[in-house]
Amino acid sequence: MAENFAPWTAPGAIARPALQAGCGGPTGVAPIIQLHPTRLCNLACAHCYTSSGPRETQQLPLPLLRAVLDDAAALGYRQLAVSGGEPLLYEALPGLLQHARRLGMLTSLTSNGLLLSPQRWAAIAPHLDRLAISVDGRETTHDALRGQAGALARTLRLLAQPRATGTPFGFIFTLTQHNVDELEDVVGLAAAHGAQGVQVHPLTLHGRARETLAGARPDGQELLAAIVEAQRLAQALQTRSGVRVQVDALSQDQILAHRERLVPAWPAPGLTALAPVLVLQSDGQLLPLTHELPRALWLGSVHEAPLKALAARWLHSSASRRLVQALERTWQALAEGAQPAAYWYDEVAARVRPAEVHVPVPPLPSRGLMPRGPALAQGRAAQA
Ligand code: SF4
Repeated sequence: MAENFAPWTAPGAIARPALQAGCGGPTGVAPIIQLHPTRLCNLACAHCYTSSGPRETQQLPLPLLRAVLDDAAALGYRQLAVSGGEPLLYEALPGLLQHARRLGMLTSLTSNGLLLSPQRWAAIAPHLDRLAISVDGRETTHDALRGQAGALARTLRLLAQPRATGTPFGFIFTLTQHNVDELEDVVGLAAAHGAQGVQVHPLTLHGRARETLAGARPDGQELLAAIVEAQRLAQALQTRSGVRVQVDALSQDQILAHRERLVPAWPAPGLTALAPVLVLQSDGQLLPLTHELPRALWLGSVHEAPLKALAARWLHSSASRRLVQALERTWQALAEGAQPAAYWYDEVAARVRPAEVHVPVPPLPSRGLMPRGPALAQGRAAQA
């Protein structure tokens, strides 16, 4: 699944979405918490960075996720993006979305779209602001990546559900080193089926993708080609179809122009300043920005402590300082012209020095000193 979905968050986000005035972070969105409540999936795609599949059972209980969202909202996160695994297989999904809405968060979901039955959709739609459907190219490409003949055709048929409820939806297209020529077809499908946007997200070489698609990560030239192609498609199609095309990449000009937004100060006033994207994996581990960062820079596990306590410890630890140092090194390298365009988070992860993988993280305060809400206590009980 893609990191997060944001084609509508910034009007005018066509082809240069990664840095928009008034947005909270380098991905062009307000602070967002990305939850992977389960790794269970009806598919086992070749490009899956969470190695999800039909036999994966790992998942997080709803009471624990409610407590995480309570803390996230208090820390300034304004959007919930649920991914997976296939989130439609997470039984408690309606309750999770409902809780985020009560906290004033925008809710979005990334799905392969194959399980959008009328019953499931009826339970989810009232609590959902945006739906993202993965569409990874022409029919043969999409179905081959998914390992299922007919997958794209079925997904497109089931888009009748969000169309019927008027829920805004868009496509996420995984960009590899070899498929920018398929973007036009995907944008054409988006226009034909009522999607409002297409988000072009570079392949992340993590999880299963690392084994199956090694060498397919798009380089700087390919990212620039995607940006140029998105601009061309926007000019050709936008006024006619209203479909926005967003590429999760920065040109070198953008990198030069927006240093202050890419490299935050340390110490930071709050977690959202250093981690405008906060990821919660299905194993309970919390990490800033992207799955690609080494474990030593993660915040820790929500099975061990509440998000608020993990954030307080991390913000004043050497881990957050070293993350900022890696952001600074990345900006320097890209500003000096190493490549014409870049997917910022992957570049940052690549520049975390090997020594930083072994940064010691200070211990948390004893449990008696930690703030523990009743919902979290319920979550732990449910796991016991
Ligand atoms: S549908 Fe998404 S979560 Fe499921 S295997 Fe494919 S990429 Fe992974």
